[in-house]
Amino acid sequence: MKKKVLIDMIKLRSVMAENPSIELPDGYFYQTLNTNGLKTIRELAIFRFTCRRCEDAPCISVCPAEALEKDEDGVIVRHTNLCVSCKSCVTICPFGTMMTDFFKHHRNKDLLYNLNDEDELEKFIKSSPEGTVSITDADESPADNIYKLNDRVLIREVLYSTVKQ
Ligand code: SF4
Ligand code: SF4
Repeated sequence: MKKKVLIDMIKLRSVMAENPSIELPDGYFYQTLNTNGLKTIRELAIFRFTCRRCEDAPCISVCPAEALEKDEDGVIVRHTNLCVSCKSCVTICPFGTMMTDFFKHHRNKDLLYNLNDEDELEKFIKSSPEGTVSITDADESPADNIYKLNDRVLIREVLYSTVKQ
């Protein structure tokens, strides 16, 4: 069974809350045949799992560049070729779900790792705050707040639900 990368978004957010100026490393896979450009794992994870999918999404309406839209599953997608990094979407999001570094045009390349490359994956794990990124052969486990982002990545996150438990 192929091992997966497990990224703990809950811990990452608490690291960021304790140290708001921290520059967090991030991972990506090269995307092909789309115009969305490079998407980091944290951006994909946040729009998939952390975003509350507002019905009349204020982030979409405030965007001056029409860079945000919902896909067929209601997940926000950012078109990086249109985004002008104004961060209005970050400011208006009532739930503070987004991390501002996605929107920087010039992110620190030394903190971006191609997860298709084993050496870079190892460096990504080492440069991430302790306990936030690991390798696992486990599967998705909602009881442990662990969800599948794709075949290579699991995300630990608390999902928002309007359903009373
Ligand atoms: S940061 Fe990008 S996606 Fe967000 S509002 Fe500005 S242009 Fe739109
Ligand atoms: S405003 Fe925030 S929570 Fe609402 S859809 Fe946009 S990113 Fe998601």
